[in-house]
Amino acid sequence: MRQPLVAGNWKMNGSRDSIKALMSGINAGLSSSDRAQVVVCPPFVYLDAVAGMIKGTKIAIGAQNVSHESAGAFTGEISVSMLQDFGARYVIVGHSERRALYGESDATVAHKFTATLLGGMVPILCVGELLEERESGKTEEVVARQLDAIVTHASIKGFEAAVVAYEPVWAIGTGKTATPEQAQEVHAFIRQRLAKHSSTIAEKVQILYGGSVNAGNAEQIFSMADVDGGLVGGASLKAADFLAICRAAN
Ligand code: PEP
Repeated sequence: MRQPLVAGNWKMNGSRDSIKALMSGINAGLSSSDRAQVVVCPPFVYLDAVAGMIKGTKIAIGAQNVSHESAGAFTGEISVSMLQDFGARYVIVGHSERRALYGESDATVAHKFTATLLGGMVPILCVGELLEERESGKTEEVVARQLDAIVTHASIKGFEAAVVAYEPVWAIGTGKTATPEQAQEVHAFIRQRLAKHSSTIAEKVQILYGGSVNAGNAEQIFSMADVDGGLVGGASLKAADFLAICRAAN
């Protein structure tokens, strides 16, 4: 039985004050008996503050990005060991905003994925198609290419300690959500693709859905057989909405 997981991707939002309010709302609404693992992914500069706010709770911290380099002359970059130093356990890699706006290729994402694993952290690998790719029937081709790049670089064993997030790009921040059936179809495809290499790993890997998940649609999406929770952007910035989504995953 896979444990459900809900990760909140705060993107480039927040301030010291708003984060304090958000975290106290989230802390107040979660219970130690909840089944779902909850992860919050603040901007780098707030990692330390959030680490102080999750002490004694079951919430884990994730980063939104990482360098594949371990140290040195890489101005502006943050390494895996630095993230660990601040108590982070997860790293989002290959988010579509990083692929589209910062030119991250499948190869770059694979390097980051491997560096994250080698450093002992858990990558949350984002995959997903653009609207025009879906409309031209290329969803599986795109998702397969993104997954295969990781298998080639990290081997299927990399997925033993990783999470996959299916995030159709057309659904991110747009208010357009994939239907539960559309999500299930791609999640099942992801599992089948990984099962070509190892059915045990494919069966165990948590696959999250991301793309305009909110308090109203989470339960239906999470009820699908191969959906193990969500990667949540906009709705993770409001404690009440995020808590409702976490409850839906329990
Ligand atoms: C995301 O950024 O990963 C995401 C899914 O955003 P949103 O929930 O706002 O669509």
